[in-house]
Amino acid sequence: MAASNIARMRQWGRTFRPTAPGLLSNAHWLAGAAFLVLGILWLRTGIGGSWSSDSRQNLYLANLMLLYMLVALGLNVISGYVGAASIGHIALFAIGAYTEAILTTDYGWHVWPAVLAGAVVAMVASLPLGLILLRLSGWYFSVVTLLLVVVVSDLILQQKELTGGGAGVFGLTMPYIGNHQLDSRDYLYFIGGLNVVVFLMLRYLIDCTRWGKAFIAVRQAEPAARAVGIHPFVVQESALMISAFLAGLAGALFAPLPGIINPDSFPILDSIFFLLAILAGGMGTVPGPVVGTLALYIVPQWLNRQQALKDYSFLVYGLLLLLLVIFLPEGISGGVRRLWYQLFGRWMKQDGGGAGSIAATGAASAAPGTDHQALQYLRQGPAASGDFALETVGLSKQFGDLVALDDLSVQVRRGTIHAIIGPNGSGKTTLLNVVSGFYRPDRGSMKCFGRTLPPGRASRSIRRGVARTFQVPQMLPALTGLENVMLGCHSGGKVTMVDGLLPLPHVRRERRRFEARARACIELVGLGEKEMRAACGQLPFAHQRLLEIARAVAGEPRMLLLDEPASGLHPDEVRQFITLIRLLRDSGMTIVLVEHNFALVGELSDSITVLDAGMLLAEGDIHAVRHDPKVIEAYLGA
Ligand code: ADP
Ligand code: MG
Repeated sequence: MAASNIARMRQWGRTFRPTAPGLLSNAHWLAGAAFLVLGILWLRTGIGGSWSSDSRQNLYLANLMLLYMLVALGLNVISGYVGAASIGHIALFAIGAYTEAILTTDYGWHVWPAVLAGAVVAMVASLPLGLILLRLSGWYFSVVTLLLVVVVSDLILQQKELTGGGAGVFGLTMPYIGNHQLDSRDYLYFIGGLNVVVFLMLRYLIDCTRWGKAFIAVRQAEPAARAVGIHPFVVQESALMISAFLAGLAGALFAPLPGIINPDSFPILDSIFFLLAILAGGMGTVPGPVVGTLALYIVPQWLNRQQALKDYSFLVYGLLLLLLVIFLPEGISGGVRRLWYQLFGRWMKQDGGGAGSIAATGAASAAPGTDHQALQYLRQGPAASGDFALETVGLSKQFGDLVALDDLSVQVRRGTIHAIIGPNGSGKTTLLNVVSGFYRPDRGSMKCFGRTLPPGRASRSIRRGVARTFQVPQMLPALTGLENVMLGCHSGGKVTMVDGLLPLPHVRRERRRFEARARACIELVGLGEKEMRAACGQLPFAHQRLLEIARAVAGEPRMLLLDEPASGLHPDEVRQFITLIRLLRDSGMTIVLVEHNFALVGELSDSITVLDAGMLLAEGDIHAVRHDPKVIEAYLGA
């Protein structure tokens, strides 16, 4: 139930989100802010006492909570967005803390540079881990992160000279700002402020730059991610680094608080707390970790203070968590948002329905002529050189004993529509996979616009101007049509993950440029505002196919590989599709069309290659192919 619920609810929330008027659309932000205010009020009235009584214990707990929130914010990037659940973040937290402690006590560093060093060391420590870990998926990743905790705590005990073994490192002092040494209350404000800054930076990175969508794409539709030039490994590794940096930073800031750290300061259960916090708050939502940490931290404190519940507080806590998972599978922030839309949804739907719902008008009317905006983008691209867009020589690909491509040499003229046809299983999709760098051929070579194409490198193929779609559309169901198509602009992006943390002018410019280009491409394929705003998973199959073509076109390719793009389209849509493909060809793009609809191929293509059992059966124009006895026998004969 949980998985489908999550998908349904996220989509549901998303459908209306962009149409909502200001205040309503920010429901989850308001909820987050309300939680923060409530949390602070709670702290003021005291966790087990009044804040004004200056109870050291309360301040310590509040500080710790904010530090844990910082870890959870980072963990949400790798576990929530990229989807690799780490149980090892307490180890990174410990690495940060020990680095700070050792540098300040043994080497006489000031606290601030030592804190920064702690964050950097944790980040560097995650690097080789990422290399090993991210190749393992799902549960394996989680299990190995658990091992990380064991290894780190073992190292801490072993390296007695450095870490003080079981006794730990003591005599740590709070940092200074100018001449003023911070006390725990100043520290609370400082860390609170830091949380706000980190929160805003991550929010910007995820909501407003190409990287946020890349994180989600790597998790939800890896083929799509690779097809638009995202390197899944680089994205995963960077997300892990961001998350490790924050865990290390939090750990390093933690060390001065108790003044002494030892292995007991880093219980493994806290690692599970971080994960639970983002789960409870809403995994893969920006406010999730904030809401979740507050809830998971404050509820048990509150339960502890209820005389009636004192003996059962753990039981009640567990029960509450269970109820949460059952009734709010999308977490508290998602649940609040859902409630908000349930209360105000009808009003918002009316509000957004009028101007927003321009029905799909079809390529013929949406793309009235050759001066279409998207075509202008395409013509601005570098002029293609060479007579052939694609030349393959002796390509072979085997899966076990099965020969999918057998010594295949194909030539595709530049600026033409070239169809690849053949019976099922004849190797058409495999050929596209090899050319787009998804598969590495066993033998043979490829040239793209006169230059050798390195085998098995999807990101290289993209950079050479090769874009593709899939036989089964690979869209991100929870993102809107517009966001999906913007993903296609990824390879043309310059904004790095570091600039993406700040609303710098060039970051905003890039986003505006991507959005304009994506809109133009969606209009080019004949879809409108409605499809831009709707969650992709809710759109009909045919529209998903067209959006996928729009996404490929948004990358401004010179050659477009389409895998059975017309299947599932009804006759009207096929007409629109034909218009679209001709427009693209006339704008200078080369189209490689894998198709089994022979009538469509005959009408559309300039030249045809017929495959059978991975071998070239025939080639030429439609007349030559149609009358070729081998083709009639093998393919058309039936
Ligand atoms: P087509 O697209 O022409 O229908 P494919 O290129 O998908 O055919 O497949 C050609 C042959 O290769 C089929 O027999 C298919 O089962 C096999 N094949 C394709 N991809 C794989 C793979 N990843 N692993 C194993 N076999 C595969
Ligand atoms: Mg196929």
